[in-house]
Amino acid sequence: MRETPSRMAVGDLRRVRITGVSSPQLAWALGREISLPASLLASIGAPAGASELDLRGVEPPHLNGLADDLRVRAAFTDRTPHSARIPFTYQYVPPRVRSFIARQIGRRLRTRAGQWARFPSWPLDLSADFVADWLSGAAGGVDAVPVLLTHDIDSAGGLRNLVELFLPLEEAVGARSTSYVVPRAWKLDHGLLREAVARGHEIGVHGYDHSNRTPFLDRAERRRRLASGRAALEAYSPAGYRAPSLVRTSGLLADLADYFEYDSSIPTSGGPFPTPNNGCATARPFRTAARGVAVLLTHCERRFSGNPPMLSAYREFLEFVTATPQLTWILASRVARTAWT
Ligand SMILES: [Zn+2]
Repeated sequence: MRETPSRMAVGDLRRVRITGVSSPQLAWALGREISLPASLLASIGAPAGASELDLRGVEPPHLNGLADDLRVRAAFTDRTPHSARIPFTYQYVPPRVRSFIARQIGRRLRTRAGQWARFPSWPLDLSADFVADWLSGAAGGVDAVPVLLTHDIDSAGGLRNLVELFLPLEEAVGARSTSYVVPRAWKLDHGLLREAVARGHEIGVHGYDHSNRTPFLDRAERRRRLASGRAALEAYSPAGYRAPSLVRTSGLLADLADYFEYDSSIPTSGGPFPTPNNGCATARPFRTAARGVAVLLTHCERRFSGNPPMLSAYREFLEFVTATPQLTWILASRVARTAWT
């Protein structure tokens, strides 16, 4: 892989490596690369073009809203991705062909991270959290990071694998997961859904029919789909929503508020998918400035994670989290309902 430049201008953002911090609350950022506005860097006397930033002795500037700006700057994928523009539902392309195409694209993209990960950077960009902690002087001290296990259930086979293969592994370590289920594309097996809920797991809604169009529809049609998708899974009191392929628009997010308690569609660093340079550059639930959460997303279909090597990696991950005192299990609805301080 080609090395990405350590400093990069993105609009008015520049990437700098933090080499010194002004308070213990910022210690987590030491050595990390953070994107900050060039004007902010100039205002605290950083030399133009500097790739490193030592904040010892630097008074935090008085700025309102910068952390919010960074969170939403690349949070929405308002440009239609290819998959929503083709004149037929891309799911009719056989899965193996899709996987092959994705691998080819992935191989090409890995060498060009400088273009698709200008901001947020890949694989992790915590610029918004850094700014929030720096400017507020608060936050810090995390007892245990909540870890969410989530699955996107795109097919009847995925649901079967969830219940037969994944849930037992999770339960063996005392964890429970949240599964976002496509509500209107295939026949839902309510026996399996009921069983997952009865065993302490959660169900959320994964779009409508997974054709990646809902975010771009006019408001009335989009709301009809959200209501219909929710209704299909109403028996499981779905608290949250995740957009298929993580394709989301500001219009979609605004409408979701009327149907769900939270949305889980905006990654910290989206990398190249569904569009380059997308993500919210924060590991924290947004509504309230809070501590970070870690979210694992898997697809239970055999071609993704529902196969022996991937399941064994999954078991190792579950055992690692369970054995790490700084990590603790949480369900997505509880994150949404917690008053983060
Ligand atoms: Zn999906």
